[in-house]
Amino acid sequence: MTNARGFIIAGASLAGAKAAETLRSEGYEERIILVGDEPVRPYERPPLSKGYLRGELAFDDAAVHSQGFYEEHGIELLTSTTVTSIDPTSKVVELEPGGTIAYDQLLLSTGARPRSLSVPGSDLGGLLYLRTVADCDALRAALDQASKVVVIGAGWIGCEVAASARQLGKDVDIIEAARVPLERVLGAEVGAIFADLHADHGVNLHLGEGVESFVGAHSVEEVVLADSAVVSGDLFVVGVGVSPRTELAERAGLALNNGVEVDQYLATNVPGIWAAGDVANAFHPVFGTRIRLEHWSAALNQGPAAAKNMLGQATPYARIPYFYSDQYELGMEYSGYAPTWDSIVIRREQQEGALIVFWMGEGRVLAGMNVNVWDVADDIAALVAAKSVVDAKRLADPEVSLSSLAPKT
Ligand SMILES: Cc1cc2nc3c(=O)[nH]c(=O)nc-3n(C[C@H](O)[C@H](O)[C@H](O)COP(=O)(O)OP(=O)(O)OC[C@H]3O[C@@H](n4cnc5c(N)ncnc54)[C@H](O)[C@@H]3O)c2cc1C
Repeated sequence: MTNARGFIIAGASLAGAKAAETLRSEGYEERIILVGDEPVRPYERPPLSKGYLRGELAFDDAAVHSQGFYEEHGIELLTSTTVTSIDPTSKVVELEPGGTIAYDQLLLSTGARPRSLSVPGSDLGGLLYLRTVADCDALRAALDQASKVVVIGAGWIGCEVAASARQLGKDVDIIEAARVPLERVLGAEVGAIFADLHADHGVNLHLGEGVESFVGAHSVEEVVLADSAVVSGDLFVVGVGVSPRTELAERAGLALNNGVEVDQYLATNVPGIWAAGDVANAFHPVFGTRIRLEHWSAALNQGPAAAKNMLGQATPYARIPYFYSDQYELGMEYSGYAPTWDSIVIRREQQEGALIVFWMGEGRVLAGMNVNVWDVADDIAALVAAKSVVDAKRLADPEVSLSSLAPKT
């Protein structure tokens, strides 16, 4: 391995690949080394619970760039390679299966991994988790053989996997400890929309009941719930959240706090080391607090922002958080940040099932979710960024355009 210094990106997924692309498009001419422990080139994960899982999309449809992109742009993509340690003093990283590389600047885009469920019987084998394309291929193969699928956890991934399994004609049970799906993010009233959606599509929902244990002869065959009810199945998928992959940063002595702590420029506490995407807990200048986002849009946009900062362009990351989900015929986008709120406002559009929900704090829009209504996410983001008090009656009135409620910039 040559030791000419360049920029190293640890983690070859959306954030890392977009950072590498931006370094080149912004004119950086030295070495760019994009290191990823997966055996394939960078890809986007959202299709893994949607079209790719259902066999409607191929890997190339999910890939961030075409096969030839990295070579064409002089980006050294090292797949099946793990960055095992960083020495911030000598500015050198160590790799597995071998070698060291010296760097000028280093970006950590190591992402997140699924949280595992640890209850009696969870080590029996047979519980599937979904993060990588390899996980998805295994899940797809298991779905082909299964007729009754049990999804544990009704967060975004659990809900999307349940919807895809139903669309593939499987019987599906969802088990969720909260009262409704997605309660932590959306609250009970709005989460109920997703409970109804899945019930209407024939999913058996077991809500308000956590998993007590798993039972099976050789691998998991049944889930025992807290109220002693038993749910059997022949495929069990767990989606109970993710944890940031901070072990590399921790060993290098970087400041951690629910991820790698970075400022609004995505800089860590160690000069020359940056973090972006799911692993980064970044100070957000609009909200005045650190937020670790686990969304496609943050990876897509923080990667380029970090790259510009690595080149000395001092670009704060101030984009309003955004994510989306597709389940059956329901498509939604959520813009904003509302860890708590004091009320919600619902704006029902004329079309059946189309609505916008706003989470409010002291009369201001903290976040908004458009369901089966399109081309409004920018207006919602403008309302959130404006932080001005909005008349709730006008907000709820579909005759009043959202752009007229957001102050003009
Ligand atoms: C099934 C699924 C569906 C999703 N759907 C949506 C959606 O609909 N909408 C939405 O907004 N978001 C969605 N997300 C979330 C979104 O995909 C993530 O926010 C995004 O992938 C984060 O990108 P990232 O580049 O920060 O990290 P990751 O995608 O986690 O990538 C990090 C990469 O770094 C590698 N890595 C880690 N440590 C090392 C190391 N030491 N050395 C080398 N490589 C390393 C990892 O293996 C991985 O390849 C979904 C996620 C999943 C799993």
